[in-house]
Amino acid sequence: MVRYVCRHCRRRIGEFGGDWTDKRLGLHSLSADEQEEILEIGSDGTALVKVLCDHCLPVPWMDDLWYN
Ligand SMILES: [Zn+2]
Repeated sequence: MVRYVCRHCRRRIGEFGGDWTDKRLGLHSLSADEQEEILEIGSDGTALVKVLCDHCLPVPWMDDLWYN
């Protein structure tokens, strides 16, 4: 199970029923550093993929902006 969440607003973006190493996801082709940054493998084997959703994408990640 792969779960995509927004790392900014924590909204759940989507889920994928297979393994995170599935070639269709392309996650296996990330560098080790990138995988460490966006991937979080839970103890039950669920992979959390921390990305930005459409809503947060154009917003620079600054916690002190009033519109966040
Ligand atoms: Zn978001």
